[in-house]
Amino acid sequence: MSDCIFCKIIAGEIPSQRVYEDDRMIAFKDINPKAQVHLLVIPRLHVTGLDALTAQHKDLIAHMMLQLPQIAGSQGIKDFRTIINNGAGAGQEVFHLHIHVMGGKQLPGF
Ligand code: 5GP
Ligand code: ZN
Repeated sequence: MSDCIFCKIIAGEIPSQRVYEDDRMIAFKDINPKAQVHLLVIPRLHVTGLDALTAQHKDLIAHMMLQLPQIAGSQGIKDFRTIINNGAGAGQEVFHLHIHVMGGKQLPGF
């Protein structure tokens, strides 16, 4: 998607601080962190959000989820919170599926 900020980050057209990447996904630091550690984990595939997923994406999503503890660990945290905003009404601003990974200090209750 040519007008997608996260596709541009994947392509290297917009700089980011990558902390993990493989053939299906990348993880990078959020530009406006809401916690001591705040990462965004995204598929290389442009999918707008959770509501755009189908059964054909299940291996991709499982793969992303399974990397999270290791990615968090690479930033020095064992405990972390994940958030996926789906839709503008839930606060989604970038319409390329992303998992927020947050931690680093005791997080407030949710
Ligand atoms: P959303 O509100 O869509 O769930 O989250 C989008 C996130 O992307 C926000 O936390 C915002 O700070 C982050 N973000 C937006 N633009 C950029 C960018 O260009 N670079 C990085 N690293 N993060 C971004
Ligand atoms: Zn995209």
